[in-house]
Amino acid sequence: MDDKLRIESRLAQIGSLEDPATGAVNFPIYNATAFRHPKLGQSTGFDYSRTKSPTRSVLETAAAQLESGDAAFACSSGMAALQTIFSLFGQGDHLIVSLDLYGGTYRLLERIMSKFGVSASYVDTNDLEALESVRRPETKAVVIETPTNPLMMITDIEAVCTWAKSHELLTIVDNTLLTPFFQRPLELGADIIIHSATKYLGGHNDVLAGLIVTKGAELSAEMAILHNSIGAVLGPTDSYQLMRGMKTLALRMERHESNSLELAHYLKGHSAIAEVFHPGLPEHPGFEIQNRQSSGNTGIFSFKVKDARYVEPILRHIRLIAFAESLGGVESLMTYPTVQTHADIPVEIRDAVGVDDRLLRFSVGIEHIDDLIADLGHALEQARIEIETADAQGGQA
Ligand SMILES: *Cc1c(COP(=O)(O)O)cnc(C)c1O
Repeated sequence: MDDKLRIESRLAQIGSLEDPATGAVNFPIYNATAFRHPKLGQSTGFDYSRTKSPTRSVLETAAAQLESGDAAFACSSGMAALQTIFSLFGQGDHLIVSLDLYGGTYRLLERIMSKFGVSASYVDTNDLEALESVRRPETKAVVIETPTNPLMMITDIEAVCTWAKSHELLTIVDNTLLTPFFQRPLELGADIIIHSATKYLGGHNDVLAGLIVTKGAELSAEMAILHNSIGAVLGPTDSYQLMRGMKTLALRMERHESNSLELAHYLKGHSAIAEVFHPGLPEHPGFEIQNRQSSGNTGIFSFKVKDARYVEPILRHIRLIAFAESLGGVESLMTYPTVQTHADIPVEIRDAVGVDDRLLRFSVGIEHIDDLIADLGHALEQARIEIETADAQGGQA
C-alpha cells in the first residue's frame, strides 16, 4: 500500500487492493494449508500455511507497515507472540523487564522461560540508573511496556533504546495499549514490537491474536525461523477478523481516548476516589514524555478508591460497564487487578508498584460518555450508601 497515505486511510484500506483475481474490496479467507507448485523448484510463494498463508500475509504486511517495521508475524495470541520472541534467548541469557508488567508476561518468564535458563530482572524502565544497576554481561534485551497496565507508568522509549544500543541490547516494546495509531516505538529506535491484537487492534472482544513486528533484515529472518518452527501462528479466519477490526482502529482510538479522559476528570473530582492514574492528566508524572512520544492516549486508566470496601459494591452495581477481564474492546470493562489480571505477580512486587486492594482498572469503551458517567456515578453512590448504612449499624451494635 502507498506509504504516503495517512494512517487512517491505510487502516481503512487493509487488504483492499490485494486480490487481483476478483477485485474483492476485502481480502478473502484462504483456508488452504497446502499450495500446488507450478513445477519442480518453483513456488507461488506459498508452500505450507504454517510458514506462509495468503490471508495472514496480507495482515502481516499491513502490520509491518503500520509499525514502520520490516516484517510482521501473526500469532495465535499475544502470549504466543511473546513466547516466540523470548525464544530468541536461551541458557544463561538475562533480560531487563518493566516492573509493572502484564501478569501473563511475568508468568511466562518466571514459570516457563526460567526452565530454559533465561532470567529476568524487574525494574522501573524509566530509570536509567536502575537499568544500569541490573545490567550484566549476559543481559540480552530490555522489555518495556509503556504505558504499563494497570498503573499507567510511562517509559521514555527513545532514552531506553539509546541506552540499550550503547550496550548492544535489543529493545522489545509491548505496544498493545497505544497501538501504532498513537505510538510507533520502532521509529524511536526499538527493535521488536509485540501486540496482544486481542485488545485494541481486534477491538471487539471476539478474536484472540498476537503480532510481532521486527526491524532489520537479520532479526526479521531469525524471527521468521522461530515463528515457523514454534508454529503458534494465526489461522486464516482469525486473520480476516483481525483485519476487519483494524479497519476502524482510528475512529475507535479517538473515541476511547476522549471517553477515558472525560471519565478520568470526572473521577478526579469525586469524593470516593483517592487517586486517578491517567497519563493524559497534566499532573501524571509521565505526561510530558507521553505527549512527546505518542500522539494520543489509550482508553485504559486506573483509579484508587478511598476505602477498599467500595470495590465490591461498585463491581456489583455497574451495569453498562461490565465487570470482566481484558481490555481494548468497544465495550467498557472494569477489572480488579489484584485478584484477576495480576494474581500471578507476587504480593511484594504488587505492593512495590502500588497494585493494591483499592485499585480498579477501567477499559473505557466507545459508548456515549454521558451513559458511562451515569453508570459509574450510580455505582459509586450505591456503594457510598451501603458503606454508610453498614457503619451506622456497626455504630449502634
Ligand atoms: C493481553 C495482553 C497480553 C497477552 O495477550 P493475549 O492475546 O491475551 O495472549 C500481553 N501484553 C499485554 C499488555 C496485554 O494486555
